[in-house]
Amino acid sequence: VRTDNNNRLCPDDLQLKINQLKSQNIHPFAVVGVAGTTETGNVDPLRTIGEICQKEQYHFHVDAAWGGATLMSSTYRHLLDGIELADSVTIDAHKQMYIPMGAGMVLFKDPHAMNAIEHHAQYILRKGSKDLGSHTLEGSRSG
Ligand SMILES: *Cc1c(COP(=O)(O)O)cnc(C)c1O
Repeated sequence: VRTDNNNRLCPDDLQLKINQLKSQNIHPFAVVGVAGTTETGNVDPLRTIGEICQKEQYHFHVDAAWGGATLMSSTYRHLLDGIELADSVTIDAHKQMYIPMGAGMVLFKDPHAMNAIEHHAQYILRKGSKDLGSHTLEGSRSG
């Protein structure tokens, strides 16, 4: 998908690419917008992307790993306008929240959406286990 002079996703081109894919019987299921790129802080036009996703019934994910904490600023939160349309949002507490250890998070609008990636292996987290490992990369076999 093309980007503009500020490296932000072009919604018109997104819609064009979606139409092209659909005409080839290829059905995307998700679109990712960035709310603050790591190096330059650019924010994609989240509201427009979110509206396209609602119309197409795609999952809308926003990568706000770096920029998400901006929502806590009454002066700058408007920069992330439209993030509320996201189905899921990534936010890293070890960035602008200054947590001294890695703390990446994904927030889901529908808490049951996370079940789509749940996995249980026999040797590890058993069904019903509350271990976060069933939804993250952190799971391991216990001693
Ligand atoms: C840091 C960052 C990531 C990766 O997050 P990690 O927690 O380092 O894996 C992804 N997207 C953006 C925009 C980031 O700033």
